[in-house]
Amino acid sequence: MRLLNRDDWYDIGRDLDWTLTYVDHAEAFPDSWSGNGVVPAAAWDAWDEPYRVTYHDYVSVQREKEGGAHAVREALKRANIFHKLDPAHTASSQMHMGTTCMVEQMAITMQSRFCRFAPTPRWRNLGVYGMLDEIRHTQLDMAFSHDLLKDDQSFDWCQKAFHSNEWAVIAIRNFFDDVMLNADCMEAAIATSLTVEHGFTNIQFVALAADAMEAGDIDFSNLLSSIQTDESRHAQCGFPAVEILMKHDPKRAQHIFDVSFWRSFRLFQTLTGISMDYYTPLHQRKMSFKEFMMEWVVTQHERTIRDVGLQKPWYWDEFLACLDHGHHAMQLGTWMYRPTLFWNPNAGVSRAERKWLNSKYPGWEDSWGVIWDEIIRNVNDGAAEKTVGATLPALCNVTHLPIGAHWDRHHVSKQMSVYKGRTYYFDSNVSKWIFDSNPERYAGSTNVVERFLAGQIQPMDLGGAVQWMGLTPDVMGDDAYKYRWAAEYKSPVPMAAE
Ligand code: MN
Ligand code: MN
Repeated sequence: MRLLNRDDWYDIGRDLDWTLTYVDHAEAFPDSWSGNGVVPAAAWDAWDEPYRVTYHDYVSVQREKEGGAHAVREALKRANIFHKLDPAHTASSQMHMGTTCMVEQMAITMQSRFCRFAPTPRWRNLGVYGMLDEIRHTQLDMAFSHDLLKDDQSFDWCQKAFHSNEWAVIAIRNFFDDVMLNADCMEAAIATSLTVEHGFTNIQFVALAADAMEAGDIDFSNLLSSIQTDESRHAQCGFPAVEILMKHDPKRAQHIFDVSFWRSFRLFQTLTGISMDYYTPLHQRKMSFKEFMMEWVVTQHERTIRDVGLQKPWYWDEFLACLDHGHHAMQLGTWMYRPTLFWNPNAGVSRAERKWLNSKYPGWEDSWGVIWDEIIRNVNDGAAEKTVGATLPALCNVTHLPIGAHWDRHHVSKQMSVYKGRTYYFDSNVSKWIFDSNPERYAGSTNVVERFLAGQIQPMDLGGAVQWMGLTPDVMGDDAYKYRWAAEYKSPVPMAAE
């Protein structure tokens, strides 16, 4: 039997659609799920996928990828590579597993919503492949972490994290609940496909993969690269959707973009920023977080958003300022609250590391060095317990990140809004703007401090909070190098190093 060439049947296959007679179209495709809004039905004829894929092609390519990823996994399992890794780097992979695995799982649901409710059969068709991609990503994270459970219980958090109240996980869950599970198809196309997947996953999956490879963690690097090949493909489904929305409702498109860009940036800054600039061993760093952001997000994503007709977000200058500082603030905060983490954070401020930080971020010493000096004095005086935060920091009602953690220490501003009698606090005027533009959307959630004040955390101290977050002594974070890095500060700076 002769098979038709793909191009002879592809257009018919992807346009499989029919006029509904038993139910109203609006009932089968409710606006609250499709997000179609004011876009006329005929406009969807212009939706064209940027890549052509058939089920047959998809399965054979994915089969190869899976084979490759698991072959490396098996070989490295036998080589027992985990014990040879630098403990600071290990923190990056544990953080990644705990904060990303369930996001991949949530993405399955989001993609399955495209399969069912997207306004054109072409997009519904591609949603199937996106869904299968995300199932693969979740399972890769689980398999990788399961292999390492025997070496380190922190990998249990690959599965556990999203079922806990760990504060960083709450911040991530809040965002992805909002832009993956709560979003209609149009919003998910802009917030997730275009912004998170196209704009930001490169930094987590390309930059971190390069650093992991340098650090000798071939298994983790290989897993990240395998996942990224899927992300860069299915993220492209966002473009044709954005182009159509830009023609019919550009204000809505821009608003979704401005909100999701800020929220994604703040999370990636918190996770990837500290992984790259503090956890990756100094001699293995390829690029600073800022350099990577400038090349892969600012330059490339800027071009992309211009191509689809979007403007840069109105807060662009503040975003650039935050790029210099926010992750240093988050590094200080996460290290000081290390018992609330499920990995062992590296301080990353030895003399050599500090020199590197100052060369990449000229304001670093002025803003952060002085605080680290105080920490170092306490560590060297044998009072490491004084370097652990005793009370909870004020948290933002939009990002759920600490207030005062988006700029340098000279720019701590108090932003608040009152809505229906309750006062909400924000980490920046951008987060306040997000809240004010749609308060009903954010008003219902409570952050960790509010739950603490409501008496949900008992006893009302850091010990009670850590227990409430689900952290057990075997995974609770402590300094990755057991404070050995601070010892060199006991002697005065050698002249040559000045
Ligand atoms: Mn994924
Ligand atoms: Mn994805």
